[in-house]
Amino acid sequence: MIRVSEIFGPTVQGEGPLIGKPTAFVRTGGCDYRCSWCDTLYAVLPEHKDEWRAMDAEAVLAEVSELTGGRPILVTLSGGNPAMQKLGPLIDLGHERGFTFALETQASISRDWFARLDWLFLSPKPPSSGESIDWDKFDACVEAADGARTALKVAIFDEADYQFAKAAAARHPDLPVYLQVGNPAYPEPADGALSGAELQARLMEQYRWLVDHAAEDGWYQATILPQLHVLVWGTERGH
Ligand code: SF4
Repeated sequence: MIRVSEIFGPTVQGEGPLIGKPTAFVRTGGCDYRCSWCDTLYAVLPEHKDEWRAMDAEAVLAEVSELTGGRPILVTLSGGNPAMQKLGPLIDLGHERGFTFALETQASISRDWFARLDWLFLSPKPPSSGESIDWDKFDACVEAADGARTALKVAIFDEADYQFAKAAAARHPDLPVYLQVGNPAYPEPADGALSGAELQARLMEQYRWLVDHAAEDGWYQATILPQLHVLVWGTERGH
């Protein structure tokens, strides 16, 4: 069974190589990390366990199909850490029915079924998260992806995060790399939650800093993106 925190969509992917692509999200419950700026703690912390559902592959696809009017779609498997779940049967059954699958993980757990994904986005957490990376586990995820199109995606809040992203990219120079401006809404600023306009302004300020920084640094291989869904919907759930 798969522990599911929420299923929603169709909406658009807000990050990475598939930005703007219509997708349904299957967010699994449970995570082996506790990032300082996590924006989905309801899919991480055990106190939310009662909100999570145990579903088999058939039930997950039935719910996604209900949302899409029966049409196959790109399914984004997110979390929490979806690599904690047994998702091979869901991927296989979905492929038989025309669905495609992208999975996003911090690359702390590798699975042999990664190779059956259509896309694998590895998002190692930088120093600002408060977590530390085990590079051997990260490398094992890259290896397990054999066959899946793989990309590296790193959230950037500050200079240390930027340097971390460069180190991660240098380990696997063949992987496309996406720098994603960190969401300033998390953790909530000491002076209180940001309004939609404040959030957009801070996000854009950070984005300009990151673009200028990468340009001055001559790092032209990286694609630099803001989180599209945060710009459009703020911190609202379901997008
Ligand atoms: Fe949250 Fe992702 Fe960090 Fe888990 S890895 S705590 S889901 S940001």
